[in-house]
Amino acid sequence: MKLINFIRFFLIKKITIPALLKEFGGVFEEAGYKAYLVGGAVRDIFLGKKASDWDVATNATPQDVMKLFKFVVPTGIEHGTVTVHYKKHEIEVTTFRTESGYSDGRHPDSVNYAATIEEDLSRRDFTMNAIAVDLKNGRIVDPYGGKRDIQKKLIRTVGVPRERFLEDGLRPIRAIRFSSQLEFKIEDKTYREISTEPVLKKISGISLERFRDELLKLLKAPKPSLGIKQMEETGILNIFIPEFTACRNCIQSDDRGYHIFDVFDHNIYACDGAPAAKPLVRLAALFHDIGKPAARTENTTPEGLKVFHFFNHEAESEKLARKIMIRLKFSNADTDHVCHLVKHHMFYYTPDWTDAAVRRFLVKVGSENIPDLIDLRLADMYGKYNQPVRLHDSAACDNLIEFQERIKAIEAKNQALSLKDLAVNGKDLIGIGIPAGKQLGTILNQLFEAVLEDPAMNDKEKLLEIAKKSIRD
Ligand code: ATP
Ligand code: MG
Repeated sequence: MKLINFIRFFLIKKITIPALLKEFGGVFEEAGYKAYLVGGAVRDIFLGKKASDWDVATNATPQDVMKLFKFVVPTGIEHGTVTVHYKKHEIEVTTFRTESGYSDGRHPDSVNYAATIEEDLSRRDFTMNAIAVDLKNGRIVDPYGGKRDIQKKLIRTVGVPRERFLEDGLRPIRAIRFSSQLEFKIEDKTYREISTEPVLKKISGISLERFRDELLKLLKAPKPSLGIKQMEETGILNIFIPEFTACRNCIQSDDRGYHIFDVFDHNIYACDGAPAAKPLVRLAALFHDIGKPAARTENTTPEGLKVFHFFNHEAESEKLARKIMIRLKFSNADTDHVCHLVKHHMFYYTPDWTDAAVRRFLVKVGSENIPDLIDLRLADMYGKYNQPVRLHDSAACDNLIEFQERIKAIEAKNQALSLKDLAVNGKDLIGIGIPAGKQLGTILNQLFEAVLEDPAMNDKEKLLEIAKKSIRD
């Protein structure tokens, strides 16, 4: 295995390019241009992973590229980038360029086109991202030792870390995100540079949207907790989500011994425990107990035990989650969904719940949210010991499985779970003399309650009977 790695990293000067990309490169070659595969796709090739998307760098200008292909969208023309739709693939093509700073923390101030791929690679952030593969012949261009760093699982900037971080304050956050995503180490000196005053100042100037997008990418890493801890240690977290500070050293372990982690670690391990494919559930897990420091009370039981309480912390967590997500410019839909999950994360099903109780729960949280809420609960339990719940509390796990079975059984019966499933509607009630208005709404809700309690009541005649009785009383 070691030998194979050695060959892959050091002896190979060329790589085999997928047929479609080779064909794509041929279009540039025929027209007299150069084209290279760059960025994450090249990194993925050396990591033995399948590339998720292809970025191509060329000396053709965006206008030239538009002439070469039929379907070209000017997705980032101000940065020299267009997206070519080629045989069911979307390929981002960017003209070789050099850059001169990001004074608004968002866009490069100006785009200067470069003459060579080497010059283009010199403006890229990390050595592992500054490797190019010539689409004509598979030749590797690696002027900064990117292959070597990939093999060592090391993140290093192209050039002097401080200079590169001061050009664009997103780079330190990208370094941390890549470190979690790839499980690479940020080279020591580079890492230390992040917490220096000028670099932190530069970081605090980036746009909140750029931070949000990196956070979302971090949430897809195998263990986002690694990155969140690095953000805490370097001071980045305190810039963007200072609400977390109070969670560190907010001790939950009282004399009853239920908890081993403080609220901070519990939240970030819970985040690891949520499915990587569900970034919003991961976000809900990250925030689910963030309101605990504000809700914490302490008292001593008659037996002399010291106990901590966090009454209604889910409401406080929901409030903070909303504040943070609005600040980070998440969409209203994403914010509402995460907040809804946080608000309802404290449910405790027991087998003695009646079917009516299960139906009421479904109405309260919405059937469509059940899978995410169950995932959040599993994540919460993961975060208790930083391991899958199956390993430390199989009874809790079985209990959740039973709850899901009960829900499934109830859903299969297609019983009324919302007002619109009732056998009567507002018009029917108006028909028996109830005036449109507040009273009508109250009666409809009464009927819905009756049906939730006993689905056999969902019958037009029976419901109108109750309604009539209700006006008489
Ligand atoms: P992924 O797509 O997994 O996030 P990637 O390396 O492809 O990884 P992109 O954000 O798609 O990252 O950027 C493509 C390439 O552009 C990077 O590999 C890097 O060479 C360069 N790049 C992106 N952002 C910056 C930046 N802020 N500063 C310098 N170079 C950057
Ligand atoms: Mg990419």
